[in-house]
Amino acid sequence: MKLPRLLFKEQKLEDILRQISDKDTIVIADDYNFEIIKDIDFERRDIIRIEKASKKEVEKVKKNTNYITIIGIGGCSALDFARACGKEGCNFCAIPSILSTACISVNKSILYENDHPIVKTTLSPKEVIISWPLITSTEASELKKWSASGFGDLFAKISAIVDFIYREGKISEDKITYTLIEEFISWNNLLNLLQILNWVNEKFETYDKDTLKKLAIWLYRVGLENILQNSTLSTAGEHQLYYKMQEQQKYDRRLPTHGQLVSIGTLITAKIIEKKAKEDILFKKLKRAYKKLGLPVTYKDLSNIHVEKNHIVAGIKAMEKQYFFLSTFFDEKLLDETYKE
Ligand SMILES: [Zn+2]
Repeated sequence: MKLPRLLFKEQKLEDILRQISDKDTIVIADDYNFEIIKDIDFERRDIIRIEKASKKEVEKVKKNTNYITIIGIGGCSALDFARACGKEGCNFCAIPSILSTACISVNKSILYENDHPIVKTTLSPKEVIISWPLITSTEASELKKWSASGFGDLFAKISAIVDFIYREGKISEDKITYTLIEEFISWNNLLNLLQILNWVNEKFETYDKDTLKKLAIWLYRVGLENILQNSTLSTAGEHQLYYKMQEQQKYDRRLPTHGQLVSIGTLITAKIIEKKAKEDILFKKLKRAYKKLGLPVTYKDLSNIHVEKNHIVAGIKAMEKQYFFLSTFFDEKLLDETYKE
């Protein structure tokens, strides 16, 4: 299996497109990026503007258009759509315009069928190209929101690790500690998310180019782990909660974002560890990091991104009860303790 390469480029999107696109290329772009590229003069078969990653629309493109190269430009919906267009002999190049989730380098797409999300294994990118002019052209508050979401998706893996240790490792809930998570990460040679958590708490100041470069590398690395490893280690209860809440509340995908939503399950998971193992290190570190990054840490923060307490309660209720660490040990009092001012 060929793994994607991550490339950083100082070139503008138009120059990159002129280099990598040809007459057998289709370009998939979301609304925002479609407007940017539609008048650029570069060789291509077609540019397809997409609103969301709909399974039906993907099938239409696959059936009606001939192409060899697929270029996806935008956030996760555009990249999910683009990689799902993969056919025999195709190659895919991802150009994320925001660093909002680990979706930049994975081989899975979330596609929507009648508003229901389904996860499909699709094409992993040959290249993930980060164009600095494109990434940094995002307006400051949007850049902050999307990049914070990227960190939210990154740290969601901590909760997935806890779930894995609990379920697959059959470790009882009171034995899951910060040190055990640390050891698990090192035994399995995973990206050291606890070190990244420390970096945020000690060094992070703002979403400058240096931070964004680190974030891109980390998201890319987690994406590779998702391709190579057990899928139950990639995402777990925190992502299940996201699916349930999204399904029930039908949020606008721009607010709350995927990363903001998965950050909720991760923080509650850390609170459960605090209660069960009687150790608050992970919770304190996460909460402090979330605050610095701009992820929700209070009910008021949640309300600002259109998430209410009852949404979380209803979402967890809809999860498979005894399967996930999060849904097994959740109670409402714990939620209050997680998000109290
Ligand atoms: Zn995710």
